[in-house]
Amino acid sequence: MAFDARSLTDLNHRDAFIGRHIGPDTRAIATMLDTLGESSIASLIDRTIPSDIRLKGELPLAGPRSEQETLEQLRAMMSQNRVARSHIGAGYYDTIMPAVIARNVLENPGWYTAYTPYQPEIAQGRLEGLLNFQQMVMDLTGMSVANASLLDEATAAAEAMTLCRRANRKAKSRRFFVARDVFPQTLDVLRTRAGWQDIELIVDDAERVGDYQVFGALLQYPGDDGRIIDLHPLIDSARHNGAMVAVAADLLGLTLLTPPGEMGADIVLGSAQRFGIPMGFGGPHAAYLAVSNNLKRSIPGRVIGVSRDRHGEVALRMAMQTREQHIRREKATSNICTAQALLANLAGFYAVYHGAEGLFTIASRIHRLTTLLTEGLAPLGVRPDNEWFFDTLTFSGLDHNTIESRAVADNRNLRYHDDGRIGISLDETTTAEDVAALIRILSGHDSEIDIAALDRRVIETGEAHIPLPCQRQSNYLTHPVFQRYRSETEMLRYLKRLENRDLSLTHAMIPLGSCTMKLNATTEMAPLSWPECARIHPFAPRDQVEGYHRLIEDLIAQLASITGYDTVSMQPNSGAQGEYAGLVAIRRYQQSQGEGHRDICLIPGSAHGTNPASAAMAQMKVVVVECDIRGNIDMDDLRRKAAEYSDRISAIMLTYPSTHGVFEADIQEACRIVHEQGGQVYIDGANMNAQTGLCRPGDYGGDVSHLNLHKTFCIPHGGGGPGMGPIGVKAHLAPYLPGHVYGGQKQFTPGTAVSAAAYGSALILPISWAYITMMGARGLREASEVAILGANYIAERLQDYYPVLYRGDKGTVAHECIIDIRPIKNACSIDEEDIAKRLMDYGFHAPTMSFPVAGTMMVEPTESESLLELDRFCDAMIAIREEIRRIENEEWPRDNNPLVNAPHTQRDLYSEEWPHTYSRELAAFPSNAVKQAKFWPSVNRVDNVHGDRNLICSCPSIDEYRD
Ligand SMILES: *Cc1c(COP(=O)(O)O)cnc(C)c1O
Repeated sequence: MAFDARSLTDLNHRDAFIGRHIGPDTRAIATMLDTLGESSIASLIDRTIPSDIRLKGELPLAGPRSEQETLEQLRAMMSQNRVARSHIGAGYYDTIMPAVIARNVLENPGWYTAYTPYQPEIAQGRLEGLLNFQQMVMDLTGMSVANASLLDEATAAAEAMTLCRRANRKAKSRRFFVARDVFPQTLDVLRTRAGWQDIELIVDDAERVGDYQVFGALLQYPGDDGRIIDLHPLIDSARHNGAMVAVAADLLGLTLLTPPGEMGADIVLGSAQRFGIPMGFGGPHAAYLAVSNNLKRSIPGRVIGVSRDRHGEVALRMAMQTREQHIRREKATSNICTAQALLANLAGFYAVYHGAEGLFTIASRIHRLTTLLTEGLAPLGVRPDNEWFFDTLTFSGLDHNTIESRAVADNRNLRYHDDGRIGISLDETTTAEDVAALIRILSGHDSEIDIAALDRRVIETGEAHIPLPCQRQSNYLTHPVFQRYRSETEMLRYLKRLENRDLSLTHAMIPLGSCTMKLNATTEMAPLSWPECARIHPFAPRDQVEGYHRLIEDLIAQLASITGYDTVSMQPNSGAQGEYAGLVAIRRYQQSQGEGHRDICLIPGSAHGTNPASAAMAQMKVVVVECDIRGNIDMDDLRRKAAEYSDRISAIMLTYPSTHGVFEADIQEACRIVHEQGGQVYIDGANMNAQTGLCRPGDYGGDVSHLNLHKTFCIPHGGGGPGMGPIGVKAHLAPYLPGHVYGGQKQFTPGTAVSAAAYGSALILPISWAYITMMGARGLREASEVAILGANYIAERLQDYYPVLYRGDKGTVAHECIIDIRPIKNACSIDEEDIAKRLMDYGFHAPTMSFPVAGTMMVEPTESESLLELDRFCDAMIAIREEIRRIENEEWPRDNNPLVNAPHTQRDLYSEEWPHTYSRELAAFPSNAVKQAKFWPSVNRVDNVHGDRNLICSCPSIDEYRD
């Protein structure tokens, strides 16, 4: 058999990745089809997707390409980016991610493939990381409570504005003050949000904040031009007038500056980017938001809190989930769902590794270099406008063209303001040589500059460039976690210890319905670490970012073809942001048609909570459309409501296949009914994993959809973010896509941006591009087919044990299925939570719980799970059902059995007492699979209620961890 008769083309094996991405091989697929009594995948798909919406033929995509070819192509493309020394600032700074963090967290699937910590017993590692992040933010800002990240600084500012609006009930004004020196991109996102919340923005000098009657105000600290002013009197005067005050602050600067919390601020927000996170042409980065104690119950985003487990031990979990869109829908505090968990963890670890002394040294060095820059320039007659500064100087009266050509010749980017001023920001990577070069560029002086001599002079005079009231006196990062892990050995072990507490895709399938936890291939992740992708400022000149533009144009074309839309906006950096951007596009389009009065959004009761939350943010009234007993949209109710609200209907938001896991046959009809009334159709594209290559929202009636690239297109979930939520639109909506003050895809229209950066979180776009390229049209279609096959296989295997709640007309489910736990609960009071916790003993993460139907579980296997893994999961579910039977038969008491006591920890097993009628072996080693490889939950079942009643969102004192 030494001779292989295949041709050279076939031997190239260019489509090998398809078989690596898709779990089941041909034989496994045959077995699965057999189980279903189905003759072929084609016939299964024919039964599942209505024939009138099926795509004819294959998508016109290039590929498939091998992993090697794809990386080479990406390298060639991204090498057209040019890494210049960045002094642009404006919220983005070059920084150094410590290598131990890069290798063990950023480049480690144990961290990046985890999901949002909904199951805290198997997520204590990242919960601790996020708690560190919150503690760091609280310490640096001087505030009482911080959340565990928002999407970017600009949207955090917008959240602060709406938080002021909600919380400041006394204020009658609908005006919000914005200091003139907030970052331009922040102001623009505020304009967008304010426009749809009936808020009027007042933009004026920070010093005049007390002159206006407003419900809230935003100040920037230091200002956009680098200036530092004492905020205390300004905050006092604003508060005296009944306004709440938010401050956007530079987190690294706060190591030297009096924190806004000590100056009376109600809210402090900003970006944690310069804590080791690459600029990445705009993101992803974690934004932070911290509030005073009285606002803690209305803070937007996720907050990690300290609670206790069943045995009274300290245990962490997400607190106050009841504020969130999942539960409160259009009344939620915000629409945020996916945030920036991985980036928050990375930034928190940066602080853990450096500690207070390290951060102080980094900030002091930046400040010293900035001081040396001014000292070196002064004798040459060049002086900045700002007397006080941390790291940024702004110069007036210099000749822009001369300076720019000198800077370009030295491969440096400076900030060129529209009004001719020139800005320079220094950062962690800046050296003395950089400062000497900058002195030469700004002054035209070209002899040697003796930085060491300058430094000695500065030390002798001991003059500070921070105003006295703004010089920080208080301590920060005093908690032991910020002191213990300064050696690389200790840090490595700390990161590993935390990682080991978390269940991720490196252990088992994570069958979370609606979340699409599929393979995040190593090849797809590789470009994130390339400097030509990572070290690019989002506002770098166009000729330095050719690679990114090529990539983005290509990805837009791929996604447009996959969805059937005319164009795609890459700006939204989460699905929920995409919803908001899409609804705003609809409203702006309707305004342009003289239909601006249309303000009703029809949303089925089964919709994801972000849908109504986003509609509320776009100033729409939500009218719920009922579902029938089969889980489908009640078409009669839709017709009734469409007729009733007729010319008030702005849009309908539909998810397809529905959140009930079914391809509804009437989808085209539903779209038609709304179009007939002059409304637009928003198709929530979170379920694209069932459709790619098979049908397209643009074909069956959608006007706009968001895609969750972090679901269908392989960006890892990172334990709750990052994400990307680009939106595809039909041509008539294209003029109303978001613009950006610094370029972007289209002409700038103020007040349309939804993100701080023009292309959202551009650094992670190569992941989706690589996936689509390696799969090609055939691979993408097969992925959808196998995802549907897997869900049907699970439904088939489980249905005799757990009823499958909804199926389509012809008896199949889409790419996920809902199993009903309510009959079990009625029979013996075991509920879906008990099953979820018991699954941990079997080494699994639970499916999605109680969404979209309370008392159920939604299972989504994805195409990436092998038949072996699907069977292992089904076997565990079936074994648990048999355990439940023993409770039903009263063999085990209802209050003492392996389910209600789950999960079982090592502590349970080694304790002297074992007050149970089942064995230790059954408790922790209930299957052969776990006997071979056991994943231990690190705490027992967590008490959510206790944690919410006694809200603690800071690192517990170390004593609490002791006996
Ligand atoms: C995940 C999801 C969303 C929200 O997306 P995020 O990226 O988390 O903001 C919206 N709709 C559905 C159906 C989803 O599954």
